[in-house]
Amino acid sequence: MKIAVIGGGPAGLMAAEAAKSEGAVVEIYDAMPSVGRKFLLAGKGGMNLTHSESAEKFRQRYGARRASIQPLLEQFGPEALRAWARGLGVETFVGSSGRVFPSDLKSAPLLRAWLRRLRQDGVTFHVRHRWSGWDEKGALCFSTPQGNRVVSADAVILALGGGSWPQLGSTGAWVPLLAKRGVSLEPLKSANCGFDVNWSQHMRTKFAGHPVKPVVVTALTKDGKEFRQQGELVVTETGLEGGVIYAVSSWVRDEIVAKGAATIRLDLSPDRDLSRIINDLSQPRGSRSMASHLKRCVGIEGVKAGLLREYVPKQEFSDPARLGAAIKALPIQLIAPRPLKEAISTAGGVAFEGLDDRLMVRALPGLFCAGEMLDWEAPTGGYLLTACFASGHAAGAGAVAWLQTLGKV
Ligand SMILES: Cc1cc2nc3c(=O)[nH]c(=O)nc-3n(C[C@H](O)[C@H](O)[C@H](O)COP(=O)(O)OP(=O)(O)OC[C@H]3O[C@@H](n4cnc5c(N)ncnc54)[C@H](O)[C@@H]3O)c2cc1C
Repeated sequence: MKIAVIGGGPAGLMAAEAAKSEGAVVEIYDAMPSVGRKFLLAGKGGMNLTHSESAEKFRQRYGARRASIQPLLEQFGPEALRAWARGLGVETFVGSSGRVFPSDLKSAPLLRAWLRRLRQDGVTFHVRHRWSGWDEKGALCFSTPQGNRVVSADAVILALGGGSWPQLGSTGAWVPLLAKRGVSLEPLKSANCGFDVNWSQHMRTKFAGHPVKPVVVTALTKDGKEFRQQGELVVTETGLEGGVIYAVSSWVRDEIVAKGAATIRLDLSPDRDLSRIINDLSQPRGSRSMASHLKRCVGIEGVKAGLLREYVPKQEFSDPARLGAAIKALPIQLIAPRPLKEAISTAGGVAFEGLDDRLMVRALPGLFCAGEMLDWEAPTGGYLLTACFASGHAAGAGAVAWLQTLGKV
């Protein structure tokens, strides 16, 4: 019983491990010279493996796709993931935000130990093998430095990633290949991404790269609820990015599609309420410039003062009530998501409606899909990797279970 896993990211490696542990012969194919490149990059800034919050809260992070992701998490969720890492000699800890990290915050030791174990268990790796579809007999076609190769397998697990950061291997080039075979797909879209703003030239040149912190972002989402999160964002040459922007990004993206633009509000002084700010701004300015008045009375300077100048008419600076209102709720219009290649993750992909509960494509028996190429999205916080691992685990076990029903095991 041979299972071909195409894509050696966290989802594909986990699928391979799950299938191997059930006795399958597993071969992994990846287009890049080495596997797990995005996983390694995720470890650069401190790899957030999963989250320690309650199972109920955790599931809610998958929004409209919660019902599809929940059964996967029940088989291999945050606790199983931490135990799995421990099994590879990597302890995890819960940070102050509830996020779970490997004890050294890195992904490289975890990946190294994992690849060593997979090889010892007999999983075979074929790197520099770019999958390009099927031949007329249904065999898998790869382009390799040695030329084209055709491979047959009893079952195939695709774990090809989304379309963000294509330089790390996941290019989204699989979309037309699956569309041609009738697989039901949602268009790939940027998730956890920055957005364009119509900045003035002054804002671009003076403040691009400046972090805005602390800041609270609020937005009125479509179900009438208020999104509200304190954090940090960064002004870029084209707009805004950073953690708190990523957190609201799925609403902003969909709002832009529906209405052409989305408005968020920034509270530039989260520690003071409006009445205090108005009071502080009402102190006599004397001969001080407005810039030093703002700095001295309400602690606003640099990029925060730049944002106020960008949006508040000059004459309103002398009106404490109007300026105070702008400081507490500065409206910023976001006009376009940054391109998919710059996003942290991808929304859209293979629709769950076309898959069975083993993640097998109903229309193409023997073909399974896992990881970010499936149509779900979640905020950052460990939810992305957890769902990739969980779906990889389900697809690996599912492929073996399907082969068993055919008597091939
Ligand atoms: C900068 C950054 C930081 C991140 N940090 C975190 C974090 O801290 N926590 C978290 O939960 N998530 C994080 N993520 C997201 C997480 O890394 C991804 O969700 C995850 O790697 C997706 O796993 P995957 O296995 O589905 O796909 P990928 O990791 O993208 O792997 C897909 C694999 O398929 C291969 N492939 C693609 N096409 C082909 C083809 N045609 N033929 C053969 N092989 C192919 C690719 O080479 C690649 O190896 C981060 C992402 C980025 C960009």
